[in-house]
Amino acid sequence: MTIELFREDAYKKKCKAKVVAVNGNQVELDQTIFYPAGGGQPGDMGIMQTIGGKLMSVVDCYKDKGTGAHLHILADGAEKPDVGELVSANLNWDRRHKLMRMHTALHLLCSLVDAGVTGGSVGEEKGRLDFDLEESPDKDELTAKLNELVQKNARVGFDWITEEQLEANPELVRTMSVKPPMGQGVVRVIGIEDIDIQPCGGTHVRSTGEIGPLRVGKIEKKGRMNRRINIHFSEE
Ligand SMILES: [Zn+2]
Repeated sequence: MTIELFREDAYKKKCKAKVVAVNGNQVELDQTIFYPAGGGQPGDMGIMQTIGGKLMSVVDCYKDKGTGAHLHILADGAEKPDVGELVSANLNWDRRHKLMRMHTALHLLCSLVDAGVTGGSVGEEKGRLDFDLEESPDKDELTAKLNELVQKNARVGFDWITEEQLEANPELVRTMSVKPPMGQGVVRVIGIEDIDIQPCGGTHVRSTGEIGPLRVGKIEKKGRMNRRINIHFSEE
């Protein structure tokens, strides 16, 4: 099992690691800072370098559905590390930080819309959530409320709770389609001070002020009971 350093510290930009498996262009490490695609957040990108000087670009990262292996995907034609070799892994931090800001922004959006979430996606420039909702909320009002929460600069933190605690508090789960991963005994929850708490394995900023100004974009009708709300960074 790969040690997932990003779950405890989303701001770690590099780490040393040992290569435990290489399969084609898929590399498994003993520990990593690369987030694997999941929960609507895309996999991380960056570079990996061996002490011997091999420089490899990591173009994606995901977990193998069958084995659960945490795979770093190298660019086509890249050199490959050898099993047992030590590498330093470096995140494309600019991209990751935008994804962190957008992911936390989507949790704010979730706190403002009183409906179940049926889907979502975190992007570098925009993000979206699909809600089980018949009426579209007012765009300007929602933009104003989102920016109020950003300006509050509320603290964002995480905790691990037991699966029993989660089952005793079903209102914590806002996503109707994706259940939080169970079977490990504990579930990670992300809390935004006095605003929101929900199970989430993603990477988040430390406080809402770090998100910066937001703007609600298109609100799309995706079926009678489905409204897709898109949000953007308003200064980028
Ligand atoms: Zn989340």
